[in-house]
Amino acid sequence: MFEDIVSFIQDLYGHKKFIGLHEPIFVGNERKYVVDAIDSTFVSSVGAYVDSFEKHFADYVGAKKAIVTGNGTSALHAGLHLLGVQRDDEVLTQALTFVATANAIAYCQAQPIFLDSDRETLGMSPESLEQFLSENAAVEDGLCRNKKTGRIIRACVPMHVFGHPVKIERIVAICEKYQIAVLEDAAESMGSLWHGTHTGLFGKVGVFSFNGNKIITAGGGGMIVTHDEPLGKRAKHLTTTAKIPHPWEFEHDEMGFNYRMPNLNAALILAQLEKLDDFIANKRETAKRYQEFFNTKGIEFFTEPDGARSNYWLNAIFFKNQTERDRFLETTNKNGVMTRPAWKLMPQLAMYKDCQKTDLSISTDIVQRLVNIPSSVRVS
Ligand SMILES: *Cc1c(COP(=O)(O)O)cnc(C)c1O
Repeated sequence: MFEDIVSFIQDLYGHKKFIGLHEPIFVGNERKYVVDAIDSTFVSSVGAYVDSFEKHFADYVGAKKAIVTGNGTSALHAGLHLLGVQRDDEVLTQALTFVATANAIAYCQAQPIFLDSDRETLGMSPESLEQFLSENAAVEDGLCRNKKTGRIIRACVPMHVFGHPVKIERIVAICEKYQIAVLEDAAESMGSLWHGTHTGLFGKVGVFSFNGNKIITAGGGGMIVTHDEPLGKRAKHLTTTAKIPHPWEFEHDEMGFNYRMPNLNAALILAQLEKLDDFIANKRETAKRYQEFFNTKGIEFFTEPDGARSNYWLNAIFFKNQTERDRFLETTNKNGVMTRPAWKLMPQLAMYKDCQKTDLSISTDIVQRLVNIPSSVRVS
């Protein structure tokens, strides 16, 4: 069973060796820029590639400010800190996400609240958000308070799952009504648009990741974007130890973070960014091939929501039930075709099991039936 799918994927990638879920490729200026960074001796936390990548990235996504960081998780942590998330606050997010989203909230000593997913996007359900807030929240003096716990609901972190944009405009509108700041976890959605605007730019802050498995990689890296210039300046200050510029004095005006991306990594990712449009075209073509194939098999292939242009970071298919899904995971992984189930829902993890959550029936159903299949850029 499923041998036909294994063969299809091997044909698609043109070989019968191991096929990973998402492997990086370096076919542009990566070597040239990295060698140049080494020759310049600026391999560490400052350098021309850091400045250049921030500028090119901001231009690419259309943000006023872009601030690079050492990884996506540190960008999330710094981003929440910038929005004023602090001890005993509450932060809304979705149950179906990578653990880093919830961890970043916990780093701020805040409490995550887990919402259900939307079937059309896999990400945060605006209905689930609206329902939780109408049942639990009251706005007073410009702050949103959870009537049951007495705590302030300071922020909301929707995540664009597998690169597919969530219904971000509705989420932002609901949060505005309740005076809640929005931070978009766009770690997976570099290059994905919602009605023509880049994901990450709808909320007050957006965050990206350039980990090795993402659509473009710095080896490791992250980014904070914002339209708010003073906030962007503060983001740079905060993530670079909050040092006051001075020819020799070490003056730091707040507890900053060392969340910088080394120039060496910035050189690598600058070359990757130059290839991003090619990568997206290639991946969208792969998604089309998958869609046509799985249609003939009667297996549901997940396609971009209406109004979205997705980067199709990780392709996903749905089985009828968990038993069938598990059989597929077994066959493919045994045959050198890497496939993975979705993450466990956050409240299923020991450290988040006692957190507040809404009804999670849609995310539970997604997790039981979804499988990610190989999605790397295909090289001929
Ligand atoms: C990859 C990822 C992150 C974390 O990024 P790192 O660069 O690995 O720290 C955060 N959130 C989501 C949803 C991710 O997929």
